[in-house]
Amino acid sequence: MSEHEFDVIVIGMGPGGEDLAGRLAQAGLAVAGVESRLVGGECPFFGCVPSKMMIRAANLLAEAGRVAGMAGRAAVEPSWQPVARRIRDEATDDWDDTVAADRFTGKGGQLFRGTGRIIGPGQVRVDRARPGGGSDGGGGDLLRARRGIVIATGTEPAVPPIPGLAGTPLWTNREAIRATQVPESLIVLGGGAVGVELAQVFARFGARVSVVEALAKLVPLEEPEAGDLLASVFRAGGIGVRTGVAASQVSHDGGSFRVTLAGGEVLTGSELLVATGRRTRLAEVGAGAVGIDESARAIPVDERMRAAPGVWAIGDIVGHGAFTHMSVYHAGIVIADILGQEHHAAEYHAVPRVTFTDPEIGSVGLSEAQARDQGLDVRTGVAQVPATARGWIHKAGNGGFIKLVQDAGSGVLVGATSAGPVGGEVLSMLTLAVHARVPVQRLREMIYAYPTFHRGVEDALTAMG
Ligand SMILES: Cc1cc2nc3c(=O)[nH]c(=O)nc-3n(C[C@H](O)[C@H](O)[C@H](O)COP(=O)(O)OP(=O)(O)OC[C@H]3O[C@@H](n4cnc5c(N)ncnc54)[C@H](O)[C@@H]3O)c2cc1C
Repeated sequence: MSEHEFDVIVIGMGPGGEDLAGRLAQAGLAVAGVESRLVGGECPFFGCVPSKMMIRAANLLAEAGRVAGMAGRAAVEPSWQPVARRIRDEATDDWDDTVAADRFTGKGGQLFRGTGRIIGPGQVRVDRARPGGGSDGGGGDLLRARRGIVIATGTEPAVPPIPGLAGTPLWTNREAIRATQVPESLIVLGGGAVGVELAQVFARFGARVSVVEALAKLVPLEEPEAGDLLASVFRAGGIGVRTGVAASQVSHDGGSFRVTLAGGEVLTGSELLVATGRRTRLAEVGAGAVGIDESARAIPVDERMRAAPGVWAIGDIVGHGAFTHMSVYHAGIVIADILGQEHHAAEYHAVPRVTFTDPEIGSVGLSEAQARDQGLDVRTGVAQVPATARGWIHKAGNGGFIKLVQDAGSGVLVGATSAGPVGGEVLSMLTLAVHARVPVQRLREMIYAYPTFHRGVEDALTAMG
């Protein structure tokens, strides 16, 4: 085993780890980055970037379908080949991270390919990755950190213990992103962001799709109105929606899947996408060696992302929202802490998130129910996008709403949802309002450009009374 000493060791080179490791190396620190799979992590290779390329393509098809009755006729022949090619060539370099690895080493960092495991304070053992996967289990490297270790190991797709599911050729997001053709039919387990985004994509490319969500609504972390909106848009688009019912049994006969639902209904599909959440692997990274509870779902951290003396944790693994922007936000805080620079503490009252379905569901801060659970004096206002000037002009594909959640006690918005065409972009002004705690009265006094989608915020304020 060869030994090396660094200022900082970063385990996991996803969006947060890569950003942090590179910026610390640029600042002149000796930095080791440890990565067991692909430098860049889930987002560029299996998550945000390729899925949004799929969505862009699927939305083009949907727009073409809206030409009739508004702009004449459009005949469209969907083809998955340009989508798969774009993901392979433009997004992922055929799942090759050379560009990202070189970017890091070009900043002065040293990359260790393998699985990193903390074996004691300031010490990480790396079992080198074998070409083609796995680790060598033997030699490897022992890394020592003078200043600290950053855990940025993210999450893995979680596969629930449904009888019959294990061992079937199921898809997680990783197989779905690598799909080279559209399945004839697809069952999606899980109606969260990943499930609904991919369900709509494959449906728009011609697959017969059903989504199964055990909770009462699709996108169950969002306002219930968002789940209702998506369910109606999905059904109108030919996607089967089963909510409030869990899968109780799965089987695969070599050709297709059978999913039995709790009520006895049986769904069949040529592919099965499991999108029921993510899991962390705290034991694999040796969190217990620095006193962190390995059985926990996430690593508890303070407002400077400190998890233990000389240990920081960032990104999905700390459980404050599984978003690329969260991981990179955390990275900035840790960089400042390690470099001894002034920096604001982590705060989570205005976390924005977007589900990139059509309509997009953007939201920030608290839902109405969460605000009530916190005992706030809640006032809400809702504007329906089709009833706003721009929504009416837009016509086809204009489903959506803007919902504002005000804490009447403090007179500021504590949450908002913007669903509709470009709902994720309309979200930006609402995020600013929640983040900066702009008084609702000031929002009422503002001028909203006519006829924008964001002018619906003014309508929602009016509805709030
Ligand atoms: C289909 C899909 C779509 C998504 N779309 C969006 C989106 O539109 N917007 C958004 O903000 N977020 C999106 N996300 C979420 C986003 O991808 C994650 O929040 C983000 O990648 C988390 O970054 P991270 O830095 O925490 O870690 P990850 O990206 O999970 O990276 C962690 C890295 O650590 C490595 N690793 C793990 N254990 C070890 C170890 N012991 N040793 C060495 N290396 C290790 C892993 O191989 C991995 O490369 C999406 C996710 C999915 C699945």
